[in-house]
Amino acid sequence: MRVYNFEDGGETDVPVDELYMREALKLAQVAYQEDEVPIGAIIVAQGKIIGKGYNLTERLHDVTAHAEMQAFTAASNFMGGKYLKDCTLYVTVEPCVMCAGASYWAQISRIVYGTADEKRGAAKYGSLYHPKTEVVSGVLAADCAALIQSFFRNKR
Ligand SMILES: [Zn+2]
Repeated sequence: MRVYNFEDGGETDVPVDELYMREALKLAQVAYQEDEVPIGAIIVAQGKIIGKGYNLTERLHDVTAHAEMQAFTAASNFMGGKYLKDCTLYVTVEPCVMCAGASYWAQISRIVYGTADEKRGAAKYGSLYHPKTEVVSGVLAADCAALIQSFFRNKR
C-alpha cells in the first residue's frame, strides 16, 4: 500500500498503520521525558489526526488521565459528537479496561495497538470492545514494548 510520508512529503511503502503508530510512539516518548509511564495515543479520521494524548496520570494526579482517554476527548471535540465512527485509535500499549470501556461508548471503528499488556490489558477480561470495533494488535510491538521496559528498568 502506498501512503503519504510525513517526513519528506513523498510516498512510501511503509504500511499506514506503522506510520500512525510512529506518531503515537512520539507521544509516548514525550510521556517518558516527563517521567510518566510512556504510552501515547492518536486518533485518525480520513487520514487526519484528530486527537492526541499521552499518559499524564502523575502530573494531573488523575488515574483516568490515560493517553487514550485524552485522545477520545480531543477527537470527540473535533468531531462535535460523542461517537467516533470511521475513526481509528492508535495506542502504543493495549488498552486497559477503562479505556476499552470508553472506546465501547465511543463506538470507535478500529483500534490498533502496539504491545500487549498481559497484566492490565483488557483482553484478559473478555470482549470489552464494542461489537463494531475492529481490534488489531502487534503493530511496532517491539518498539512500543522497549520503551515501557526501559522506563520501568530505570525506576528500579
Ligand atoms: Zn487505560
